[in-house]
Amino acid sequence: MLFLDKLPEFSRLVLDSLCQPLKDRKVIILRAKAYITYPAHFQLIAAMNPCRCDYLGEASRSCKKPRCGTDYMNKISGPLLDRIDICIKVLTVNVLFPKIHSEGESTSSIRERVIAARKIQAERYSELSISCNSDVSGEALNKFTKPD
Ligand SMILES: [Zn+2]
Repeated sequence: MLFLDKLPEFSRLVLDSLCQPLKDRKVIILRAKAYITYPAHFQLIAAMNPCRCDYLGEASRSCKKPRCGTDYMNKISGPLLDRIDICIKVLTVNVLFPKIHSEGESTSSIRERVIAARKIQAERYSELSISCNSDVSGEALNKFTKPD
């Protein structure tokens, strides 16, 4: 697992260099007369604030620049965003007066759904050397896609 906190703070070059390993699950290092390939099967998890100053969307404060959030988000390229399967917006938590929410699905219920999904994937890919949806290559994906 690779966790990148404050994702837009990394240079564009570094972030874009993650696209190929995320796609091919390997890193190729080129040197003068040789290249070496290393396996790079990892899960990318990233976090970021809504803008650089972290005030975007707050009623009590405002951003220091008009395009603060847009400029911050634009540091992440489309190809990298395309390789991120799940994006979740997390609301600000008031640490002094936290609201306790009892609504929503329980962790044990979610766990059961994940186990069921993993079981379906294990059966689906039993003849291949992969175990979950994220391991399916583009070519193999056509085999498992339902026709319209
Ligand atoms: Zn801001």
